[in-house]
Amino acid sequence: MSLTGETGASQQLPHENGKPDFDLIEPRALDRHEFSTSVSIGIVIGETNYESPEHILRDADSAMYKAKGAGKGCYFVFNKNLYQLALDHFSLEAELRRALKNNEFILNFQPIVDLKTDQLYGFEALVRWQHPVRGLLYPGTFMPLAEESESVELIDFWVLKKACQTITDWQTRGLIQGPLRVSINFSARHFSKLSFFGRIDELITRYGVAGKYLTFEVTEHGLMKGAESVTQTLEQIRDRDIHISIDDFGTGYSSLSYLHRYPINILKIDRCFVRDLHQQPQNAAIVRAIIALANSLKVNTMAEGVETATERDHLAALGSHFAQGHLFASPMQEEAATNLLSRAKIVDL
Ligand code: C2E
Ligand code: MG
Ligand code: MG
Repeated sequence: MSLTGETGASQQLPHENGKPDFDLIEPRALDRHEFSTSVSIGIVIGETNYESPEHILRDADSAMYKAKGAGKGCYFVFNKNLYQLALDHFSLEAELRRALKNNEFILNFQPIVDLKTDQLYGFEALVRWQHPVRGLLYPGTFMPLAEESESVELIDFWVLKKACQTITDWQTRGLIQGPLRVSINFSARHFSKLSFFGRIDELITRYGVAGKYLTFEVTEHGLMKGAESVTQTLEQIRDRDIHISIDDFGTGYSSLSYLHRYPINILKIDRCFVRDLHQQPQNAAIVRAIIALANSLKVNTMAEGVETATERDHLAALGSHFAQGHLFASPMQEEAATNLLSRAKIVDL
């Protein structure tokens, strides 16, 4: 297999997926400035059983997206597994569109509390899918596949819309007396989309929801994937008064050097570190380190998956600001969240 570059020279690619041993992102001089563009290559090996050129291009496209997902300057050779994955994506996307049309998604709200006052600080919006055949589905069963394709966009913007509707309803009923934030999980995949802010602005304007009522949660893992333009995107989110929380913090195996550049508000301590905090010295050491890091960055911490009073007490003693978990309340339907809100006081941060 060969690749012909701009110079016309033909370069050899090995038959495995990965990075070629020549530079795909070599900078070019343009009017005294140096520009680098990234290249991702999808390769299809010619086989006789293709019936039309469109099918070859379709498979090359799938391979190209796989190469993109693997990082900059990579190539990917199409294989049968990818074909199955493409079929799965295709049917999931079709199913998701049908589910949206038939109102099969449900939004649950899990309360978040302030550990200093034990009062309600806000809610995390968590999606569920009431599937007509498979029953109630939790995000773990459909999100990973949706995250690998454009489908995740359908879900995340549905969640934002639904959360905005709920906040407006709470405002109209006079249930929001002070600051309250609803956290929405956003896949970092959207960040590179030109339409991202247009869609957000359209929704928050349509429902009259000020950014100060929203937090976007992005996983540490997701942020690392698109490190280059992420700072700008996060700054634009901050400019709208929307808070940014790094979800599942500590599990992304990432370099910490990016943290001081990002305008973040909250580090969300993953529940694997919260579990049995009092019996697991390694977990306690990690939580202590995350809280110290957050304090030096002047951001808050939120512990997730708090199930016991002992865990809560340890977290409070270590200085974590917020917490959520079954100990306080499990994710609940909108009506239950509305009832809770009407009984609770909102803390002023
Ligand atoms: P996450 O954002 O880390 O959400 C927290 C998960 O922990 C939720 O699972 C929640 O139900 C669960 N949880 C809460 N308290 C406890 C507890 O005390 N113990 C235990 N063991 N678990 C607890 P869920 O709802 O199944 O969501 C799983 C993940 O799916 C979420 O993790 C989030 O990453 C993703 N997700 C959920 N909704 C959305 C969405 O609308 N968009 C995107 N992109 N991702 C979503
Ligand atoms: Mg989350
Ligand atoms: Mg999490």
